[in-house]
Amino acid sequence: MKYDVVVIGGGPAGLAAAKAAYENGIKKILIIERDKELGGILQQCIHNGFGLHRFKEELTGPEYAQRYINMITDLQIEYTLESMVLNITHDKKISMISPEKGYQEIEAKSIILAMGCRERTRGAINIPGYRPAGIFTAGAAQRYINMEGYMVGKKVIILGSGDIGLIMARRMTLEGADVKAVIELQPFSGGLTRNIVQCLDDFGIPLLLSHTVTNILGKNRVESVTVSKVDENKQPIPGTEIEYECDTLLLSVGLIPENELSRELGVKLDRRTSGPMVNETMQTSISGIFACGNVVHVHDLVDFVSAEGERAGKNAANYVLSKSIPSLNSIAIENGKGITYTVPQNIDLDKASENIDIFMRVNNVYKNQKILVKNGEKELIGFPRKHLAPGEMERITIPLKFLKNIEGNLTVELQEVL
Ligand SMILES: Cc1cc2nc3c(=O)[nH]c(=O)nc-3n(C[C@H](O)[C@H](O)[C@H](O)COP(=O)(O)OP(=O)(O)OC[C@H]3O[C@@H](n4cnc5c(N)ncnc54)[C@H](O)[C@@H]3O)c2cc1C
Repeated sequence: MKYDVVVIGGGPAGLAAAKAAYENGIKKILIIERDKELGGILQQCIHNGFGLHRFKEELTGPEYAQRYINMITDLQIEYTLESMVLNITHDKKISMISPEKGYQEIEAKSIILAMGCRERTRGAINIPGYRPAGIFTAGAAQRYINMEGYMVGKKVIILGSGDIGLIMARRMTLEGADVKAVIELQPFSGGLTRNIVQCLDDFGIPLLLSHTVTNILGKNRVESVTVSKVDENKQPIPGTEIEYECDTLLLSVGLIPENELSRELGVKLDRRTSGPMVNETMQTSISGIFACGNVVHVHDLVDFVSAEGERAGKNAANYVLSKSIPSLNSIAIENGKGITYTVPQNIDLDKASENIDIFMRVNNVYKNQKILVKNGEKELIGFPRKHLAPGEMERITIPLKFLKNIEGNLTVELQEVL
């Protein structure tokens, strides 16, 4: 089977990419999704808060997903469900497997990686103790409750205050559980401010910053967990232990872009994001292979995932139609003071035709700063921000006129505004 563009992953990134590829002249498109329906992680996010930027409406996850699924079906874009991609080769051959059709090989002119991300587990953070039942990642608990109809516990501790942990604190409370506390290792929450207010403050759930879970007790089922305060090096401080009686521990300790396929393929990965390095067209280090959404870097707002998907889809179409696509060997964007990463990591100014959007995360909570774009010591443009936090992704748009006559790389850094 031969296609012009194959999209791997039918979440919001993949759906937006397929739609944009179609609208830019490509008709032979296939979306491959391993789950039994399209929509990705949005299908289990039944809370509202999606689509404020894109649709100027407050939608639930499934409602947002359905809008894109309708667009895909209206355009009659082909998709296959319960189909797991096993391997991608450099010459764009894809092997996949499904219960209905068995093993299949597909050839593509261009491939868009949109596999999303997965959660870190207890193993990844090495909490000591027994291995009783009652320990879930927050996303797994969300799927059990919202999609499968199982209540995972009654007395709950949540480790990690990223958005999924915060949303699950409210969800468990609404389902009748007693959420005793949300525990956060950092001195700040990793989630959006609106989620701290709406999911914890509104329900009187305490947030313990600079604390961690240091022991899990119980042999068959969790019976209690020990929580300790940590010092500035994130080491537990002896004598600060508090024991919480509970039957459930939810872990919301970070997301990892799902890049096993990308790694095997040989796409260059960025250690800071754990996702493929991309340029402003979302092309990876391999010509004709694009990436978008959480597989590139973890987003907090789906609206930006859709925008990134559209950019990847449009440029994959341009690639297939033999229009010139900037290569990855162009100007690098380096992160300076206060910046954890930027996406894209590279831009090709010779071929860039649109203003450049740069997404980034900061490494701490900051007040009254300027996000400064520099070329060597020369300051090109600054974007003032009153408040910055690691849990809130930042976006700047650099008009092309500021990027004339650049030599060497660009640096993005924070500068205090006095
Ligand atoms: C719990 C949670 C709450 C959130 N809350 C909000 C919110 O309130 N507001 C908001 O705007 N955003 C929210 N977000 C963020 C937003 O929903 C995500 O960033 C977005 O859904 C990511 O889209 P994606 O397409 O990149 O990934 P996903 O939605 O994860 O989709 C990836 C798809 O790829 C498929 N896949 C992976 N590997 C393969 C393979 N080998 N073969 C075939 N298919 C494969 C997966 O099955 C999946 O369907 C939330 C995210 C989470 C996890």
